Amino acid sequence: MKPLFAVLAVLVALPALAQTPESPREFKRVVKLLSDLNARSVDESREYCGALGRDEGGFEVHLAPHRGEGASCGSAAAPRAWDQVIDYHTHGSFDEGYMNEVPSDDDVLYTLERGNPHYVATPGGRLWRIDPANGISVLVCGPRCLPFDPRYDERAHRPVREAYTLRELEQRIFRR
Ligand SMILES: [Zn+2]
Repeated sequence: MKPLFAVLAVLVALPALAQTPESPREFKRVVKLLSDLNARSVDESREYCGALGRDEGGFEVHLAPHRGEGASCGSAAAPRAWDQVIDYHTHGSFDEGYMNEVPSDDDVLYTLERGNPHYVATPGGRLWRIDPANGISVLVCGPRCLPFDPRYDERAHRPVREAYTLRELEQRIFRR
């Protein structure tokens, strides 16, 4: 029985580990950038995506945010020489028929593939951080933490939790 208990203990500990705060500096950089972008994203009903990082001299560098479609966005990967790369995207405007207050399963798969922390901003002003080490999405701020869609209605979907594994997100997608 012992090995099984050990495995269970690790599984139970994962969400707690995922909530270890990212560095305050990373958080500040992302909130500043996504405050502007989320307002535009909501106004235009378009996703925006991009990356930021540090160059070889330690200076902050950005990929110009890419304007995507209503429910998708594909940006170029950050140059390999960049350090501390963070990917991000926004989720456009509120749409009662489309659950975009949480990261999608594709968002998580993309994060695991790229290996960079990935921030997602939502129409309700939530900010999520997807951990590239385990694919767990943690709500770091919100709702209404970032500029939000005034039409956003929290009652349009089931309550949003503060953390999701990939599997939990997959299950949620089919039940709103
Ligand atoms: Zn997304």
